[in-house]
Amino acid sequence: MKLRRQASYCGACGALLQWLRLLAAPSLSPCVPLSLKLSLFALLFVGLPFDVFAQDLAVTSVRVYPTPEAQPTDGATVLIHAGKIASVGQNVRIPAGTPALTCPKCVAFAGFWNCHVHFTEPKWNDAAHQPSDKLTRQLQQMLTHSGFTTVVDTSSDPNNTVALRQRIESGQAKGPRIYTAGAALYPPSAIPFYLQDLPPKVLAHLPQPGSPGEAAAAVRSNIAAGSDIVKLFTGSYVAHDRVVAMPLPIAQAAVNAGHQNGQLVFAHPSNLQRVRVAMRSGVDVLAHAPDTVGGVDTDLLRQLIAHGMALVPTLKLFSGESDIVRIREIVFEFHRLGGQLMFGTDTGFLTDYDMADEYRQLSLAGLTYRDLLAMLTTAPAARFKVADGKGRIMPGMDGDLTVLQADPSVNGVAAFSHVQYTIRSGRIIYRAP
Ligand SMILES: [Zn+2]
Repeated sequence: MKLRRQASYCGACGALLQWLRLLAAPSLSPCVPLSLKLSLFALLFVGLPFDVFAQDLAVTSVRVYPTPEAQPTDGATVLIHAGKIASVGQNVRIPAGTPALTCPKCVAFAGFWNCHVHFTEPKWNDAAHQPSDKLTRQLQQMLTHSGFTTVVDTSSDPNNTVALRQRIESGQAKGPRIYTAGAALYPPSAIPFYLQDLPPKVLAHLPQPGSPGEAAAAVRSNIAAGSDIVKLFTGSYVAHDRVVAMPLPIAQAAVNAGHQNGQLVFAHPSNLQRVRVAMRSGVDVLAHAPDTVGGVDTDLLRQLIAHGMALVPTLKLFSGESDIVRIREIVFEFHRLGGQLMFGTDTGFLTDYDMADEYRQLSLAGLTYRDLLAMLTTAPAARFKVADGKGRIMPGMDGDLTVLQADPSVNGVAAFSHVQYTIRSGRIIYRAP
C-alpha cells in the first residue's frame, strides 16, 4: 500500500516540488501579458531566415506501417517535402538534392506521442537561457531517443515549459512538439501532506480554487501563461490514508473553463472516488490507470467509456505494486470494452527514461503491438483533434516519423524502444549513435 501511495503522488510529487522552488525565485515569475508574449513569439518567427520545421528528407528502403491497422510495405520510401509527407511507396522518385536516409532493416511509423511527461527536473530550470545543445541533449536523453515527436506535459511551471517550447519551435533546440498543462489545480484547503512543509510563499502559488469562479479563473490564468490542457487533482492525499476530493461544482467549473477554450482536461484518478469526480465533472482523460483498485469494476469502466473518457495507463509506474496484475486487467478490460488508450509513462517524474518496461507491461496486459501502435499514434492524434495532420504516414500529413531498428511484430514489443531515427517535420531530432 505504501508503495502504491508513493507512486500515485506523481503530478504533485517531487517533480512538482522542483518547479515550485523555481516559482519561488523572484526572477522566474514574470507577469508578462499574453498579448506581449504572442507579439514576442511572432517576432521570433518573423526574424527566422527559414522555417525550421519545413524540411525535405527521403527515408528509403524501409518497411512502412502507414497506420496501426494496415499491412506494412517493404522496401518503401517516405518522401517529405517542406515538412509534409509528399509520397510514400515502393516507386517514389526522389528529387535531386533531397537529403536521404537509407536503412534497409528499419521500420517506419508515424511519430510517437507520450501523453504523460513532466518538465520538472532541475535540469530544465531557466530553459530560456540554457545552451541550445544542452537542451537538445536533455530532450534526446529523456524523450526523442524513444521516438517521441509529440509529448503532453501534465503539470509543470508554465513559464519555464513555455520557454522550453519556444526554444524548440524557434529551431534553437531539437525536440518534440509540447502540449503543456501548466499548473495543476488542487481541492480547496487540501494541500497534499507531502507538500505541507513547503514555505508559505510557495504554497500560495498552488492553485486551490475555493469556488467555481476561482476554478475558472485559475484555468484562465494557466491559459494566459501558454497552457494547452487543464490538469485537475480531483482529490488530494491530505494524509497517508485520507483523500479529500475536489468538490464537484469546482471540478465542473474548471472543466467547463477548459472546454470553452478548446482544451482537453486531464485528471489523476488514484481511487474510485476520484475517478467518479473526474467522470461526473466532464474530465476527458485519466492520466493514470486507477491504482487503488477497490470498487473499480466493469460497470464503472463502461460508464467511463460512455462519458467518452480516455485512459493513459502508466503501468511502469505501478509495476512494483502488489495489485499490478489487477491494474493490468483494468487497462485491458477498458480497452476490450472499447475505451480509448493513449501511451504515457510519467517520464520526468520517473527519472529512468527507459520505455521498455512500459511496453512490456502493456503487452502483459494483453495488448498487441497494433494496439500499442494506436496508443502511440492515431489515438492521441484523434483525441487532440489533429488527426488530419498526425498519426499516419500518408501524403499531406506532417513529416513526423519514428524509425525503429526492428519490427515489433517480428521481434516483440521490446523493439518499440529501439529507435534509429526520430524525425519531426522532416527534421532529424534524434539519430542512434
Ligand atoms: Zn505525472
